[in-house]
Amino acid sequence: MEKIRIAVQKSGRLSEDSLSLLRECGIKFSNGMRKLKSEAANFPIEFLFLRDDDIPGYVEDGVADIGIVGENVAVEKGREVTIAKRLGFSKCRLSLAVAKNAQYNSLEDLEGGNIATSYPVILGQYLKEKGVKATIHEISGSVEIAPSIGLAEAICDIVSSGSTLFMNGLKEVETIFRSEAVLIKGTALSAEKLEILDRLLFRIDAVQRGKNNKYILLNAPEDQLQEIIRILPGMRSPTVLPLAEKGWNSVHSVIQEEEFWEVIDQLKAAGAEGILVVPIEKMIL
Ligand code: ATP
Ligand code: ZN
Repeated sequence: MEKIRIAVQKSGRLSEDSLSLLRECGIKFSNGMRKLKSEAANFPIEFLFLRDDDIPGYVEDGVADIGIVGENVAVEKGREVTIAKRLGFSKCRLSLAVAKNAQYNSLEDLEGGNIATSYPVILGQYLKEKGVKATIHEISGSVEIAPSIGLAEAICDIVSSGSTLFMNGLKEVETIFRSEAVLIKGTALSAEKLEILDRLLFRIDAVQRGKNNKYILLNAPEDQLQEIIRILPGMRSPTVLPLAEKGWNSVHSVIQEEEFWEVIDQLKAAGAEGILVVPIEKMIL
């Protein structure tokens, strides 16, 4: 039987979350730190552990069928691959930064200047869109020291919290790209591999939906029942079960993580009591 081959970062910021996502999809495998390849015991998938920069190229060439990389890398490498799924972890942004004490009012201040980056493609597209001309110096690491050694007045680099910039005497002035981990796929997968990919995507959906939703249980007084049901969105409609005590019902439903606190406040105001909120492991519509 055919297997799909997935390329995952060997060791870095994407590795742990990539592997836990696949484990949450019920896929069992071992990944000895020094291994280059591994195979799953219970799903037709095998793993290649690689440097993230190499993953888009390997997927384009068909050495791997799919891969997990930061969207920044997927776009920067400009390979013939498509994004099959956004994965929601390893969120970061590519930003422009200048020396903390530099005068900066707008992007035009960089006109005719020098910018150091490991992302010449994404930066080049951005500058072109904005109609600003600057010289891009491509360097592969430690971009944040470029201003202090006089290589460039500005840098374009990945930021998550901003503390690295701060430690290097820089300030963030523009965000040019927002990134998260993505599942990429090649353009020439066989029908059988596409079918395996569909099964994998189905599982990823169920895991992601589970993470984005909570199971909620609460007690509702009879006279407030309709109002409480109105507040709860739910998958279809909430389950209502009578309590042993007359005049009260237990109401069960599912709510989205992001509307959680707002809904809880409304439920309390409507007279709900004993509210329990429970994580959902997987959710299939
Ligand atoms: P490799 O050795 O595989 O080439 P690397 O050093 O290039 O690794 P990492 O630092 O592990 O790469 O980052 C991998 C990806 O994780 C980045 O391309 C980006 O999408 C994302 N990322 C980078 N920095 C952060 C951060 N501070 N917070 C969250 N995500 C980040
Ligand atoms: Zn890398």
